[in-house]
This record gives sequence, C-alpha cells and structure tokens, in this order.
Amino acid sequence: MRLLIVEDEKRLATALAAGLTAEGFAVDVVHDGLEGLHRAAEGAYDLVVLDIMLPGMNGYRVCAALRAAGHETPILMLTAKDGEYDEAEGLDTGADDYLTKPFSYVVLVARIRALLRRRGGGSGSPVVTVGALRMDTAARRVHLGEAEITLTAKEFAVLEQLALRPGQVVSKADILEHVWDFAYDGDPNIVEVYVSTLRRKLGAGAISTVRGAGYRLEAL
Ligand code: CA
Repeated sequence: MRLLIVEDEKRLATALAAGLTAEGFAVDVVHDGLEGLHRAAEGAYDLVVLDIMLPGMNGYRVCAALRAAGHETPILMLTAKDGEYDEAEGLDTGADDYLTKPFSYVVLVARIRALLRRRGGGSGSPVVTVGALRMDTAARRVHLGEAEITLTAKEFAVLEQLALRPGQVVSKADILEHVWDFAYDGDPNIVEVYVSTLRRKLGAGAISTVRGAGYRLEAL
C-alpha cells in the first residue's frame, strides 16, 4: 500500500514517514499543497494524509480539486488544535476522515488501516482468505492452515498485493509501485527476492511466475 503525506512541518512529516515505512507502507512526502495535488492526481496512491495549512495551496482546496477531478483516493486530513479545522467544511470538500494535532501515532495508523479497508469494499473485513492462507491485515498476522507464518513488514506487503487479487497476475511494476516508495530507484528485481522468500515460507507452489507478466498467488 502506497501513501502520500502532504505536510509542511518537516519533522512531523519525517517522523510519520519513518513510522509508516516501518509498518510496511511505501511512503512519499511532499511539503507543499500544490505539489501534493500534482502527486496525488497521478493516481498511484492508496491513501493521502493531508495537512490543512500548507504553502502553495491549502488542504481544503487540494482535497476539493482532487474530488472535482474524479479522484476517489481516501483522504485523511490533519489539523491543528486551535480550531482552524471546520469538520463540516472538511467533509464537504470530500475528506474521508480527520485527526486533530497532536494526535496519537497509534490512532493515526488505526485510522489509515480503517480507511484502506473501507476502500477495499465488501464486508470491510480485515481478513483476506485465499485457500488455506489467511491474512489478517489489521493484526498483521498470516496463517497457513493452523500454522502461523512470520513475515517481515515488506514480505507481508508483497503478499498482500498478491492476496488482494488471488488467481490474477500482478505485475512486478504494480507490486513495486505499491510496496516501495517513489524515491526507490534500486533494482526492480528486488520483488523477485521477496517472492523467493515468500515461496520458502509458504511453499514453492504458493506463487507462480507468469513469464513476462508477473506473479500469481495460487490457492493452497
Ligand atoms: Ca501545516
């Protein structure tokens, strides 16, 4: 899952990005509203964390512009405690949720996960099941039958991309885009490294390689 943080308080933005990266998200940060709008409009994000008071263009206007252009990416707005934020106005412009600063990091992560689940549609259940594989995306736990499989944050994120589209081919570029951040300019074959580790942990038949197209998670 790939997130965009639009926040001009650089220390806060950096701390959020570090924390969310450790949770397994791919995170990009911009410090200006106009740049945030351009980035978000490129459409590759699963969620945008948007401050309101920003240089360039304020968060309300960024949000309204994205919605007017037909972008449905979930938006979580951040605001200062002094009452600058008008909830009605924020929700009017199309924000999905908001948090007042100073906020608890744990609450922020919970809200982000809730919005991502809601966007996933269906029952809103955080549990994804493919055959005997069960991924609880809220608790970040994976079971294969009765056995719990221990995965790192990145391994979990790669598997999640495949599990959300079981039986379908997911391209390497698609996985890279949602699991690694914009600044990643290393070898795209990094995806292969993670897929091999997942095969070792889940069984060689768990993930098929579709030559020239990508990977497919098989029902185990
Ligand atoms: Ca600000």
